[in-house]
Parts: sequence; C-alpha cells; structure tokens
Amino acid sequence: MLMAETNNINLKAVGGPNEALVVNTVRRRGPISRVDIAKLTGLTAPTVTNISGKLIEAGIMSEYMIGEYSGGRRPVLLKANPDMAKMVIADIRSKEVAGYIINAGLEISKQIRKDTRHLDKDAVLAAMLDIIAALCSAEEGEAVAAIGIIVRGPVRSAEGVSLFSPSTGWRNVPLKFIVEGQFHIPTFVENDMRAMALGSYHYGPYRDIRNAVFLGVGGGIGSGIILNGELYRGLGDSAGEIGHSAVDIDGPVCSCGNRGCLEAMASETALVNLAVQAVKEGHTSLITDMVNQDIEAVKPEHIYAAAEQGDGLAVEVLHNVARYLGVGVSNVINIFNPELVIIGGGITKGYKFIEDSMMEVIKQRVLESCYASVRIECSAEGRAAALNGIVDLVMQGLILNK
Ligand SMILES: [Zn+2]
Repeated sequence: MLMAETNNINLKAVGGPNEALVVNTVRRRGPISRVDIAKLTGLTAPTVTNISGKLIEAGIMSEYMIGEYSGGRRPVLLKANPDMAKMVIADIRSKEVAGYIINAGLEISKQIRKDTRHLDKDAVLAAMLDIIAALCSAEEGEAVAAIGIIVRGPVRSAEGVSLFSPSTGWRNVPLKFIVEGQFHIPTFVENDMRAMALGSYHYGPYRDIRNAVFLGVGGGIGSGIILNGELYRGLGDSAGEIGHSAVDIDGPVCSCGNRGCLEAMASETALVNLAVQAVKEGHTSLITDMVNQDIEAVKPEHIYAAAEQGDGLAVEVLHNVARYLGVGVSNVINIFNPELVIIGGGITKGYKFIEDSMMEVIKQRVLESCYASVRIECSAEGRAAALNGIVDLVMQGLILNK
C-alpha cells in the first residue's frame, strides 16, 4: 500500500541522545534554522549540521524554504516529517472516551467518541479498548506506531498504571499492561493535567518559559509542574498533587479522605456543594429555578449562568471559592517561584467572577520576591493542549526506546 510507505519512518536513524535532542527540537519548534537549533540545544553548529544531514537522509526531517526574503541568503529551515509516526490516542474524560488517530505533526486524521456516562468502571475500560481497536484497524496500511492514553487522576506514568480515577472509578488499573497485551503496540499513559502542561509548554505560547505551573481546576484540582524546562514528576511519579495540599485543616472532607484540601475548598465540586448547601439552608437564588427546584441537579454551569445574571448567592459562592484558590495559588508561587501560573479547567468559565478576589489574596500572601516576577493567566484550551502533550510524550518515548 502506498500510504504505508510514507508512514512510520524508521526511528532507528535517531542514533544517540544528541540526535534525539535535535529531532525533539525540530518536532516542537520547526520550521527552525540550524543556528536556532544549536542555540536551543547547546550543541555546536557543526554537530547540528552533521546530525540534521543524517536525519534528512533518513526522512525524519526535511529542509523548508521560506517564501519571502529580502536579499542575502535565503534562510533554510528544518521541519520534522509529520508522518515519522502515527499513533492512536484515547482520552478518558469524565463523560466520554474520545479516540484519535494523530501523527507526530499533531494532525488528526480520524476521531471517534463514546458516551460513557452510564457505564461502570469495567464497561469504560471495555469502551476504551473498543475505540483503540476500531482506530487501529481503521486505516489499513497505516501502521500505528504507538498508543497514548490520557486519564484523569494520579497516574504512575512509567508503569502506565491509573492509580485512582474518580470519574471512572478505576483504582490501580494497569492500562499499559492491558493495552500492550491486547494490541502489541507500545503504550504510554499520562494524567490529563500533566499532558496539558506538556502540550501548553511545548506547543503553546509559553514555550520560552522555563518554570511554570499549570493548575487545572474542575471537579478536582490537578497540576503539571514544569521546572527548568522539564515536567517534574517526583520520585514516585506523584508530584503535583496540589489539590491535596491542605488549606483548612478543619475544612470539609476531600475525595482523598482528608479534610480541607484545596480540592475540597476551591474545585467546581466545592463550588456546587457550597451553593447547594446555601439553598438548602433557605437562601434564595436563581439557581433553584434553573434546575426546576431539583437542587441536587445543580452543575457549575448553573452557578456561572446565575452569576452572569447578577445572582447574589452565585456571586458569593464564587467569591468564596476564589479566596481559597488564591491561597492555593499563593502556596504554589511561594514554593516554586515560577514565571507563570496558568489556571485551566472548568472554572475558567467563571473566571471573571473569581479573578479579582483570587488576585487580592495572592497579592496579600505571595512574598514580594516571588510576586514581582510571576504572571497569572487563565487558559481554556485544556483538551487540545492535553492531546498535544500526550503526542509529545509518546514521541519522546518512541525516540528514546527506538
Ligand atoms: Zn484531598
């Protein structure tokens, strides 16, 4: 088949660590000049020229001419071959599993979804395997080089185990073992927040920043921490559980069993709990009508919509959550002294109602030495960034283990 010949270039041509460094740089930053590759990697110009020659010959990258130039030498840039690998990605979300066929150049050629709202934990796993099977056999001749899985909750990425995923009910599910056993294709697993951090960092507007914390605030609170340009994983792959740092030792019980974790005080779950509790205590709110008096049916979206209409209770619970989020973000800034904190996840839909209160707390609690240099931004590009991030992780894995 013609397609097969152009796909899955033999990555063995990526010899040692210097070659891997060049491929990863061109993959993430290309089209890019040899001079810039040398600057970013610290390799000498002759080494970059030598390595890129080899990689061009192997079809892993190619030269790319810029159309316009004003005299002098036309700049020659290098560009990675997007077809150096094709992969299947499964994104296990709270309400659905989304599957993609995507290449090293982040080009999606096929996607499917399955609603998993009414499925138990075994059925979600079966749905994920069905989607992977369907995508692996979808386009004959386009060999799938790897499988990537994005999962919510803590993950032991090296072993590919989902330790605990509240939305699916998974506990210690050896995803890599199960998927590799069935498909015999190298499989990589990452938590959604770290995937988002990797994707935003390597492909977004933040890639020149060396120290950044990506905080995802949705039903839970997770994070991805970039330190000195690398994702920080910690000894047991458990770093970044900022959601389970305590902000009130007498606070409400968290999903982890402890009291007063940031997640229990400042997530969308906390937001809904606060609103529901206040209504049950007799406070009036537009939210009650939005859910036809069925107060247990309140979703974060109802609270944002009510706040939009000036509902006092909605604004107040958002303000309350914002203050604790401010405490959590202050702790993050005081500990890591990052250049950038990005807040993503569902809460971004209500960001305009939380920003002022949160920033007030941050200004008050962050040490001056850290406050002067940090930017705090809100980003709604979560899922797309996570997809880019898992592709990056898979490509790093393929290049490392070729
Ligand atoms: Zn907790």
